[in-house]
Amino acid sequence: MKNEPTKRCAKCLCHKPISEFYRSQREVFGRGSYCKVCDKADKKARYAKNKERIQQQRKDYYQTHRENLLAYGKRYYVEHKEDLKAYFQEYRETHKEEIAHQRKGYYQRNREKCLAAATAWQKAHPEKRKASQLRYQQRKNRRKRNEHSSRDSRARGRL
Ligand SMILES: [Zn+2]
Repeated sequence: MKNEPTKRCAKCLCHKPISEFYRSQREVFGRGSYCKVCDKADKKARYAKNKERIQQQRKDYYQTHRENLLAYGKRYYVEHKEDLKAYFQEYRETHKEEIAHQRKGYYQRNREKCLAAATAWQKAHPEKRKASQLRYQQRKNRRKRNEHSSRDSRARGRL
């Protein structure tokens, strides 16, 4: 072991026995120029850098092709609009009862909640409620007035 040749690491510049270097066909003594410790650190760093680069590339790709990618999504929708519509239409047709059942079930299950929410809303917005009642009343009155006036005009026409 004493006579084991040493080699200087190209990175940390330490003299280390060549068993501290990975085997490499290309280098002197058939060993790598970095010691095992430095080689590992270097690989790790290169991997991290590579990862960063790949992520950056992906980002760059998205940035430069953003318009195309978005256009593709839009084009897909436009080209398949009828298919999609037909699909949903058919789904609604074939699942009519199921959908109605679900809706009914939801209301029944949440009836108390629905009513409570409506009451709470009315309590919280009394002026809005009054306004909507007023609008309803006005509409009713107008309808009544219209009936009257049409009857009147008809009556006048007869005269
Ligand atoms: Zn080293």
